[in-house]
Amino acid sequence: MELGFAVSDTVVVTGAGSGIGRATARMAARAGLRVAAWDLSADAVAATVEEITAEGGVAVAATADVSDPAAVSAALVASGPARYLVNNAGPASSGNLDFDHALALTVGSVRSVTDAWLATRPPSGAAVVNIASVAGNFVGTDSAWYCAGKAAIAGYTRHLATRVAPAVRANAIAPGFIETPRMAGFADTELGRSLIARNPMRRAGVPDDIAGAVLFLLSPLAGYLNGVLLPVDGGWMVTQ
Ligand code: NAP
Repeated sequence: MELGFAVSDTVVVTGAGSGIGRATARMAARAGLRVAAWDLSADAVAATVEEITAEGGVAVAATADVSDPAAVSAALVASGPARYLVNNAGPASSGNLDFDHALALTVGSVRSVTDAWLATRPPSGAAVVNIASVAGNFVGTDSAWYCAGKAAIAGYTRHLATRVAPAVRANAIAPGFIETPRMAGFADTELGRSLIARNPMRRAGVPDDIAGAVLFLLSPLAGYLNGVLLPVDGGWMVTQ
């Protein structure tokens, strides 16, 4: 896969032990990047690294809770200099969390990981992609904190796009319904079936659908894209 990345450039992917993060880490390695895969779970992230290595890629694992600044600092040191960052980790919308705490987990951690990464002075041509959601940005859903946190990620991305460019490009992705472990069984619920029926692509998204968009936004092919919030939802929103 030729996206124009320099050989041996590193990408940090948070939440790389599952779902969208794992798919992004694997696709990044196939695109020639060295991957620093971070996750809460040591076993999960080790499995991601094993899969990448088995495919001939290069990856290192770090066990890090992105809401823990000390763990983030240690993970950055373990990762080595990284030109690219993907802020993917975040709590599941189904969690019954305290609003303020959930915002700190959802958007506070994106800000603190990004600040810590920026402090390493990433090399020129750097880029960050933040994973938001259609929820809170284009549609309202049940969870107040999830909608507020994902909208805040889009706002924070626009802040970055104006304040850290041209050294760093910052963009965000708003996934629609993507079949990942945390969404297991949802496609068979009444709501899941109705979402798919109204999707012009007649299917839910898969993690690689998001990974492809992430890799494009990071890559030199997207060198003049900065500050966008890209919906990746199969066109579901245009049917709303
Ligand atoms: P997933 O399969 O559950 O993967 C998320 C991974 O991130 C898990 O390994 C999880 O660990 C880890 N993680 C959670 N909190 C973390 C933290 N504080 N520090 C480090 N790692 C952490 O979920 P996914 O569906 O791929 O979701 C990835 C991102 O996409 C999330 O930001 C989510 O909000 C967003 N998104 C997903 C969808 C969708 O339909 N799937 C739609 C819109 C947006 P544990 O499993 O141990 O918690």
